[in-house]
Amino acid sequence: MKFTCWRFLHNYIPTKVNLFQRRPGSNRMCHRCGGGPETLLHACRDCPGLLELWDKLGVTWDAIPPNDETFMSWISELFDKGEQCVQIVILAIWVIWNSRNGIIHERYHQPIQSLLTFILGYAWELQSLSTEGGGCRAPILEVWRPPVEPWVRVNFDAGFYSDP
Ligand SMILES: [Zn+2]
Repeated sequence: MKFTCWRFLHNYIPTKVNLFQRRPGSNRMCHRCGGGPETLLHACRDCPGLLELWDKLGVTWDAIPPNDETFMSWISELFDKGEQCVQIVILAIWVIWNSRNGIIHERYHQPIQSLLTFILGYAWELQSLSTEGGGCRAPILEVWRPPVEPWVRVNFDAGFYSDP
């Protein structure tokens, strides 16, 4: 996951737009919504198909003209909102990208509620690890309270796609 984060921050991700720059003529449209070019920001944040997920996670950001904003600048802005926010966002991006790969390679469109449940369940697991390991870090979910009801802990299994 660390390597994946590095790839995202450096835009070293095979989005449709990045592939289009290497192979002009290839399809550069987003597979999730089909409504716009799949840049990194679109694939992870701005796609209309993801608005409900970000809304339910309670993650917001300041509106910056699209041409002036990069994935890196967005993540940098989130660091001002605290560690818990950054952790949730990174986790969400990882899940979103894997679901995007599922849409392309498996033609499986994972429901937003399923993505949300996985993210919150994984965050809960991370919180458990940090508290069991000495408890020196603030539990994520004591501070982070996404506006989602009901709170559900789930097992994440065959419905989720692993890192390519
Ligand atoms: Zn889209």
